[in-house]
Amino acid sequence: MKNQDIFQRAQESIPGGVNSPVRAFKSVGGTPRFIAKANGAYIWDVEGTQYIDYLGSWGPAIVGHSHPEVVKAVQDAAVNGLSFGAPTEGEVILAEKICALLPSIEQVRLVSSGTEATMSAIRLARGATNRRKIIKFEGCYHGHSDSLLVKAGSGLLTFGNPSSSGVPQEFVSHTIVLEYNNLDAVQQAFNEVGNDIACVIVEPIAGNMNLIKPKAGFLEGLRELCTQHGALLIFDEVMTGFRAGPKGVQGLTGIKPDLTTLAKVIGGGMPVGAFGGRKDIMQHIAPMGAVYQAGTLSGNPVSVAAGLKTLEILNRPGFYEQLSATTATLVKGLKEKAAKHGVTFSADSVGGMFGIYFRSEVPTTFAEVQESDTKAFNVFFHAMLDEGVHLAPSAFEAGFVSACHNEEILTKTFDAADKAFAKVAAM
Ligand SMILES: *Cc1c(COP(=O)(O)O)cnc(C)c1O
Repeated sequence: MKNQDIFQRAQESIPGGVNSPVRAFKSVGGTPRFIAKANGAYIWDVEGTQYIDYLGSWGPAIVGHSHPEVVKAVQDAAVNGLSFGAPTEGEVILAEKICALLPSIEQVRLVSSGTEATMSAIRLARGATNRRKIIKFEGCYHGHSDSLLVKAGSGLLTFGNPSSSGVPQEFVSHTIVLEYNNLDAVQQAFNEVGNDIACVIVEPIAGNMNLIKPKAGFLEGLRELCTQHGALLIFDEVMTGFRAGPKGVQGLTGIKPDLTTLAKVIGGGMPVGAFGGRKDIMQHIAPMGAVYQAGTLSGNPVSVAAGLKTLEILNRPGFYEQLSATTATLVKGLKEKAAKHGVTFSADSVGGMFGIYFRSEVPTTFAEVQESDTKAFNVFFHAMLDEGVHLAPSAFEAGFVSACHNEEILTKTFDAADKAFAKVAAM
């Protein structure tokens, strides 16, 4: 059975052959690997080829694929029933755990994806403040709901344009899109329409335009402006939550958002999302309040079991120290190999996530990351794949390390990178 054959077949019954667009390898070209199984730091495709995996299901696989304790928890839960449409104690335990781990969250509601979490958090912010406008930042991704699929317009306060066909201009007319790390722009927006801004939603460390960290003072400034103008600050920690550090970016910075969205790691590979925050805000949600939100599979018992076990494992002593050290070593080794071959390259990491950039400096904005040499990335990507290393198939995505990535695996990665950078240098 060949990846190419399945991909061909897939395109008959599934648009583009994939159930999420980036999987189709469109930006790097070639054939996506159809995965048969995964274990620890490795995945295997249907042809039986083994790869070191730095995609980690786009973040959830933080304890490594098919962790025996997580698998056991899922199996045990499944035996007792897959879904009830009625509350379970497991949901309460997961909610309590999230509230205990992230002090900004006093109450939390579980959903089934990050998209649902952010969409619901924004509705809640609008409902709680009785305001219409939201601020988001160029290059930050908050799922695929209508009002968030926006790209910047030409002027600062020209409201965004839909970045997807099928989204009417009117649907995004209340979404203001600003440059990441540009606090002046946020100040100006608040000066002009501050009394109608319901919330600012931000990836506190951006992981959807490759990895981009906030500049000193950026998040603090957002916190101040939101407080000053009565807007809510939403940290979208769907990617960074329990990935950038044990308490997400809010733990690393000490900044307290009003609302937080989570997904990815908290489901341990199963579909789970969550949004939570200040109790007085969360009380606006139905059945307590007037903001409607619901879900047939919300708090699904099997997903909750996977999430709970994953959170338990990553709260064991030394987990993040080891994960961060591994990721930092990875980034350092890749930079050394690039330098050896004279390839223009930079890299960065935080906790268990990293960014690699084919440009000389680590970028700080969407415009800067766009200046990366995508041709060089594509050559590097395919050379790494040929050497058995599976990276995210785009120059504009972050990478992920798990607790199972050990020294031996890093050494194999560096050997692969040595050959891959040589190919880039020979372009
Ligand atoms: C992945 C992601 C989402 C969307 O989550 P889905 O589960 O894919 O819907 C939202 N926000 C951020 C920051 C993400 O990384």
